[in-house]
Amino acid sequence: MSRTLKLAAVIGALTSLPIAPSVAAAENLRVVASFSIIADFAKNVGGDRVDIVTLVGPNGDAHVYEPKPADAATVGSADVVLVNGLPFEGFLQRLVEASATKAPIVELTKGGEVLRKTEEEGHHDQDQAAEGGEKHAAAEEGHEEGHHHHGESDPHAWQSVHNAELYVKNIADAFCAADAAGCDTYQANAESYGQQLEALEAEIKAAVAEIPEDKRTIITSHDAYGYFEHEYGIKFLAPEGVSTESEASASDVAALIKQIRQDKASAIFVENVTNPRLIEQIASETGLKVGGELYSDALSDKNGPAATYLEMMRHNITTIKGAILGS
Ligand SMILES: [Zn+2]
Repeated sequence: MSRTLKLAAVIGALTSLPIAPSVAAAENLRVVASFSIIADFAKNVGGDRVDIVTLVGPNGDAHVYEPKPADAATVGSADVVLVNGLPFEGFLQRLVEASATKAPIVELTKGGEVLRKTEEEGHHDQDQAAEGGEKHAAAEEGHEEGHHHHGESDPHAWQSVHNAELYVKNIADAFCAADAAGCDTYQANAESYGQQLEALEAEIKAAVAEIPEDKRTIITSHDAYGYFEHEYGIKFLAPEGVSTESEASASDVAALIKQIRQDKASAIFVENVTNPRLIEQIASETGLKVGGELYSDALSDKNGPAATYLEMMRHNITTIKGAILGS
């Protein structure tokens, strides 16, 4: 075959290709994020190659969320479903089953260190063999009903910025698996967002360093800050456990008030996802003034002070520091 003929054959082959590649490039990856914080990470990694639908939106409580009928259709037509795991989203399993989705359900806490809440000691223990979500989800099944909190895994891993970097890495891996053509973009986005996370972590550590060590015990509504405590050394006490599902009993509250006095807690905060009434009651009984609102399990809406993860973490540490130091 002559050179010209060969070239003609190649061109012929090229022009006879279906137009699918250009269509695929124009079509974004359909991503479902279980809640607002994951959606923000996904936006930072996916940029304009992804369309993100968030199930539990700003100021929503994923512990007790009741899926809407439309959610099953949303999950059903997704390319990738991003969830926290551990488990955080109590609604997830039934929704995934109802949706009959073929999309991978990606647990973003996979591969991270898992903290567990031991009720009688009132602090978090590290899990030695932290392999991530599945094992713990299975372990929970043995005693899921009732009030057996011993060894309950703490799902709020995003409250450590170090863990946020893991979420971002896992999102980039999931997007690369679903859309290989965009992989370089996802990795580059994850890299530059990772640098912002590292800067944020340094800011938080610097802010904590300005708080005297004997003033680092504070109160919030539920045990959402175990990872923050573990990573940055602020001690959080709360009337409610690692889920908002079960309300604090009168004896839980009485014990907490006693502990607040013993430990000389220096500030108390309401949370954006929980009813402030109990915190206001504890504040008035202990003489502590409510020091503001912390964002625990959800971002604010876009006009609020915590519309992104970076803003949320900055808002929280600034509010904590301001209330303790009285500035
Ligand atoms: Zn929570």
